[in-house]
Amino acid sequence: MARRKKIYEGKAKILYEGPEPGTIVQYFKDDATAFNAQKKATIEGKGVLNNRLSEFFMTGLNNIGVPTHFIKRLNMREQLCRACEIIPLEIIVRNYAAGSLATRLGLEEGMALPRPIVEYCYKDDKLGDPMVTEEHIAAFGWASQQDMDDILALSLRVNDFLSGVMMAVGIRLVDFKIEIGRVYEGDFQRLVVADEISPDSCRLWDIETGQKLDKDVFRRDLGNLTDAYSEVAKRLGVLQQSPASVTKPTLIN
Ligand code: UDP
Repeated sequence: MARRKKIYEGKAKILYEGPEPGTIVQYFKDDATAFNAQKKATIEGKGVLNNRLSEFFMTGLNNIGVPTHFIKRLNMREQLCRACEIIPLEIIVRNYAAGSLATRLGLEEGMALPRPIVEYCYKDDKLGDPMVTEEHIAAFGWASQQDMDDILALSLRVNDFLSGVMMAVGIRLVDFKIEIGRVYEGDFQRLVVADEISPDSCRLWDIETGQKLDKDVFRRDLGNLTDAYSEVAKRLGVLQQSPASVTKPTLIN
């Protein structure tokens, strides 16, 4: 097979040109970063789990009519997606106080919010993804008012879907981040959920025990990250086996 052209390498994924025009391949790495890449590690099996989990969430969203860039999973670490122009915003939806919101407003972690709160950050690693308002977004032309209306509606639908799916397996969706892309169809543009949805970009707490099953395990040194992600995958029925048996050959009796 001809060597594929790398389009971009990020902290947790590599993007390659896809086999057809208008497609890309997302490769999930095992690298984990936190605190704007000040903390780094390679965590065996993380990429495999995130590829499967993101496939599960994106397929579910596609099935309920929330458009995403996801087309199909190709193998253990790669998925085929529609190429899109990423809007330079990180959209954060919160149901419970945690992380930077808890710090900023002095809220107790885990406090239920009066309603889901949607925040926007400008995607720029050098600046540490600063929070911005719709005023900045409009003034700098990152997205139109119509885009913002669509982004809010999409984000809340993703929140309802993910909250329900997680609740059904005893997990609280505390908050999450998504990215939105534009795809062009003739003269029209459509917004789709892009990037990935995985425990790297969500806060997931066990409803009974409060145990963290997301990237905070890595950020705050709370234990083994692949164990946490495997637990999420197992509860969702995404992964029957442990990641060890996925990355290594298994003896069949
Ligand atoms: N998040 C993310 N990427 C980022 C920043 C945040 O995926 O660059 C996710 C994070 O995992 C959490 C949510 O967005 O689920 C809210 O993050 P927060 O603003 O509290 O920042 P943090 O405390 O994670 O730095």
